[in-house]
Amino acid sequence: MDNAQSEKVHVLIIGSGPAGYTAAIYAARANMKPVLYQGIQPGGQLTITTEVENYPGYPNGVQGPDMMIDFEKQATRMGAEIRYGIATKVDFGLQPYKVWIDDEKLIEADAVIISTGASAKWLGLESEQRLNGYGVSACAVCDGFFFKGKEVAIVGAGDTAAEEALYLSKLCTTVHMIVRRDQMRASKIMQERVLNTTNIKIYWNSETDEILGDKKVEAVRIKNRINNTTETVPIHGFFVAIGHQPNSDIFKPWIHMDETGYIQTIPGTTKTNLEGVFAAGDVQDKNYRQAVTAAGSGCMAALDAERYLSAKGLV
Ligand code: NDP
Repeated sequence: MDNAQSEKVHVLIIGSGPAGYTAAIYAARANMKPVLYQGIQPGGQLTITTEVENYPGYPNGVQGPDMMIDFEKQATRMGAEIRYGIATKVDFGLQPYKVWIDDEKLIEADAVIISTGASAKWLGLESEQRLNGYGVSACAVCDGFFFKGKEVAIVGAGDTAAEEALYLSKLCTTVHMIVRRDQMRASKIMQERVLNTTNIKIYWNSETDEILGDKKVEAVRIKNRINNTTETVPIHGFFVAIGHQPNSDIFKPWIHMDETGYIQTIPGTTKTNLEGVFAAGDVQDKNYRQAVTAAGSGCMAALDAERYLSAKGLV
């Protein structure tokens, strides 16, 4: 490793969603001179939503991408250094911790805040990508309100899909739920709630053949996998709830995770199993997954990092 390609920092923040930027704001204000690498999707999942109406402080709502630009500006104004680049490898064997950016630059850090988020899984249809933000969404709590009094569809059969279908059933006239097998994966209690909700219509053994619409979602073509028949159902919103994948692969050898890759933190803190490594936002939260909860845990991570560094006499 060429020395010109390595650098030592106090606090390295990996990821640029609400958790990462909030950690950067707090760490910069505490004079910890944080360096933040934005990752594959600068701004995170909010950059692929449209209007955000449930983040406090925006009485008229805000576009997700605009909100993340504001977060970045605020972090920069406080003195955080925000950089493009993807963390591609880490070595947490010894302190200071080593993180490689884009496979070439080495950063050595006294403390690391992991805020790499999670990515919604998608079906992989062209129409799903094209209409994303125009009726297609992976978050009912974020976007369900826009379909108040309308018909929507949701695909998936786990606890998330069940929870989101129930949430949508309170707002929408009918929720068409597309389930690929003849049973649901969701917990019994959630299944029962779904089955007992009269305005959720379940399509068993079914898959999404196509989402129809030119500039916005107008209908979904549902294919029955047993008899290969298709049915076109008019809808305004299409929700994908087939799971999330935490972006935690590169930390696997070092950091304790659950079986799906969510980083485990000590309850009530952002501390991981390694001292000086903290995790905030969706990469360690499969339950709430909201911008405001991610921002809150980003704040916690910066405070935990500050306490750790001052106890060590490093700041
Ligand atoms: P899961 O992995 O549990 O479920 C994913 C669902 O999507 C499955 O029903 C699966 O079908 C379906 N699916 C996957 N890929 C496709 C595809 N390409 N086409 C159609 N359907 C597909 O993810 P969840 O997000 O629901 O849950 C993740 C974890 O979080 C779980 O452990 C869950 O229990 C937990 N959770 C708990 C909550 C709570 O306790 N309140 C709330 C939300 C989540 P199949 O069954 O056929 O594989």
